[in-house]
Amino acid sequence: MPLIAKVAVAAAPYAIDKPYDYIAPDDARPGQRVLIPFGRGNRTGEGMILSVRRETPDKPLKAVRQLLDADPVATDREIKMALWMRQRYFCTFYDAIRTILPTAIWYKYQEFWQLVSSPQEVDLSDREREILESLQPGPQKTEELKERFGETATTILWRMAKRGIVTSVTQTDRKIRDKVITLVSLAVPLDSAVEKLRGRGRNAPRQMDALKMLAQAGETSIHDLCYFTGVSRRALENLEKQGILTMRQQEEYRINSSDNPEKPADISLNDEQSQVYEMILEQALSGKAGVTALEGVTGSGKTLIYIRLAQELLRLGKTVMILVPEIALTPQMMARFTAYFGNEVALIHSALRLSERYDQYKRIRRGEAHIVLGTRSAVFAPLDHIGLIVLDEEQEASYESENAPCYHARDIAKYRCVQENARLVLGSATPTVETAYYARQGIYQLAKLRRRYNEKNLPQVILADMRLELRRGNTGCVSRVLAEELSKNIRRGEQSILFLNRRGNSRQLICPSCGYVPQCPRCSVYLTYHSANRRMMCHYCGFSTKAPEVCPDCGGSLKHVGVGTQKIEEELRQLFPDIEILRMDADTVGEGHEKLLREFEEKRIPILLGTQMVAKGLDFENVTLVGVLAADQSLYIDHFRASERTFSLLTQVVGRAGRGNKVGRAVIQTLTPENDVIQAAADQDYERFYEREIRMRKIRRDPPFADQFVITVSGREELHVRQACAQLQRSLRDTSFLPPYDTMELEILGPAPAPVVKVNDRYRYRITVIGRNEKILRDLIAAFMKEFSGRRENKGLTIYTDCNRME
Ligand code: ADP
Ligand code: ZN
Repeated sequence: MPLIAKVAVAAAPYAIDKPYDYIAPDDARPGQRVLIPFGRGNRTGEGMILSVRRETPDKPLKAVRQLLDADPVATDREIKMALWMRQRYFCTFYDAIRTILPTAIWYKYQEFWQLVSSPQEVDLSDREREILESLQPGPQKTEELKERFGETATTILWRMAKRGIVTSVTQTDRKIRDKVITLVSLAVPLDSAVEKLRGRGRNAPRQMDALKMLAQAGETSIHDLCYFTGVSRRALENLEKQGILTMRQQEEYRINSSDNPEKPADISLNDEQSQVYEMILEQALSGKAGVTALEGVTGSGKTLIYIRLAQELLRLGKTVMILVPEIALTPQMMARFTAYFGNEVALIHSALRLSERYDQYKRIRRGEAHIVLGTRSAVFAPLDHIGLIVLDEEQEASYESENAPCYHARDIAKYRCVQENARLVLGSATPTVETAYYARQGIYQLAKLRRRYNEKNLPQVILADMRLELRRGNTGCVSRVLAEELSKNIRRGEQSILFLNRRGNSRQLICPSCGYVPQCPRCSVYLTYHSANRRMMCHYCGFSTKAPEVCPDCGGSLKHVGVGTQKIEEELRQLFPDIEILRMDADTVGEGHEKLLREFEEKRIPILLGTQMVAKGLDFENVTLVGVLAADQSLYIDHFRASERTFSLLTQVVGRAGRGNKVGRAVIQTLTPENDVIQAAADQDYERFYEREIRMRKIRRDPPFADQFVITVSGREELHVRQACAQLQRSLRDTSFLPPYDTMELEILGPAPAPVVKVNDRYRYRITVIGRNEKILRDLIAAFMKEFSGRRENKGLTIYTDCNRME
């Protein structure tokens, strides 16, 4: 009987993504990649074997053309996880498995082989011995070994690897590297980038590869991009000029365990901490999966509890995963874990090179590291025997992937805990409303840390009413009370941080005489003006053009609008002429933020002014005043998380003041000082915020009371898109009245244009389905998506679905 393999096909779009049967060679195993003929033309494509069985087929089957991996790259656990993600996130198997496995697996990389043990001690064939001897002088590249010993060399090496004689590594030179690395990311969504590249009429397969790699891996070092895709630095720099890519410099992150040569002190927890620790430890060892919400103000000792839990679980043969929102903001976490656990920890984060990430992956898979500490994607790390997964600052949006499949690390962590009967801990001072709700309903367990370890007082908060300032004739961005507090600090030699609650530095050009505002020719948005290169750019499709000198409509002179940090900086300079001010925003990224922050601390620069990035994680002794310039900015936007996010952000910013021994103050400037969210944040009162917010969510049927699926359809002709969308909405609604759906309280809303309706000449309309995120509803939506894609009249339209997106 032949061996038949179920194969997931890389090229299969969502509508026809299912396992296909192929005759496979006898040594085929699940998790290996293969080349297979696919479709009517039998073009060769890539696939992955999901399972194999012996059977006489009842119809003629195509045969696998080639096995691509000597050993499976995916384990059964990873295949199972990908299949789960596929139905959970409406993506293909390949989209999921690409997300799960390290990016380096999908690209050519230099692999080296090296000796583990001394070859004399073991029983070897002549050929094996020959190969081993060639490794005696040092690691050798796979390619060179193949050249010398033939193609079968890798099979032999893999066999010996299993016996623990040799091992493969990705990178062997650990020489001192550049201090500064250039990180590249897509400036626009992948399809816009691809279209833009194609639009230039040139076939540039390497550049195309680089774009795809960026979409998959997120921000990547320029070194890696060139190395893995063969694209040239010059080509990447050109893509940056055209607005397809963005580049930024970052100092290389170094965690040196030799910085802390002393063994760190034993931790003794206080009573409150011990209770929480005992409770979570017992839960983690109970053999049953579950979730604990750990609510504790910053400084209450959460990190130390994580360390104690990890120590104890490791001792009992379990492994631990700690996830953080962004590694650059949690240097202390890294330093502490490395100090306590040394080589037991595998760090996985975006500042690592792909090859380094791959090496970490292999260390974990081989069982050499028992703790994984990392950002979002670390949740896929191949850890065995997981006892505990921690999501610290679980409310942060960075836990959700911005590229499809848009998974949330919390969901994946929950899935893994269920598979492994492990405990998930969601830590936060300001948890998401859903988490707080489940904890109060008894669906999660609740653990609370009420006190700061050092008993320090929370900062004193002053609300500044900006309407009053306007009435008094102050049209600037700095209120009188903030200006006074700033001068106090300057006199005392203490430092202040001012925070502008908005992304980047968006500014438009406008003609004051005729009202003309330059717009993107391909998208329904205004262009953003960048002072650095005097160009106007579109952040949706990458369109960029030189800023005109005069208004093209009436010839008048153009002005900038939009309050950016630069403008506030000017205002501050007028208020405090001789005082040094440090500005940190999207325009200053080139200079390296860590360096700027160090300067701020060491030189005791009086004022730091910045966007989002100054809000989090910073911890400076001498900062005693924090100012929030426009607290309302994120409050009145149309998203069910607007209040939650504003509360969390304000709490975090306010918490920046008074870290050291002096008492801190915070000034929150707002146009709506009577707003409940702002008041609760000023009082640092989560419970009050939660009580009000949960009532609102219930009235509006927002999560956790129902889930929101957003189905988006896009295409080149607006009418076509709108009609197809309306048709889909009608048939979904009709079905929702039929059993078994009629009892599920489904609401099918829309179609409505997306917030930015046109991107890159494609119009986007959406349908919102409100209901419970359960299999029955997901299956219904998936069936409608597939049916939609199969219809002839929908040719040229694309469809995708997200659930409860963070943004
Ligand atoms: P969180 O993670 O909740 O913000 P940390 O664990 O970072 O809190 O603790 C805040 C500070 O208090 C740290 O400097 C930490 O060393 C100190 N601290 C907390 N608990 C203890 C303890 N039991 N013994 C000694 N120091 C502690
Ligand atoms: Zn555009």
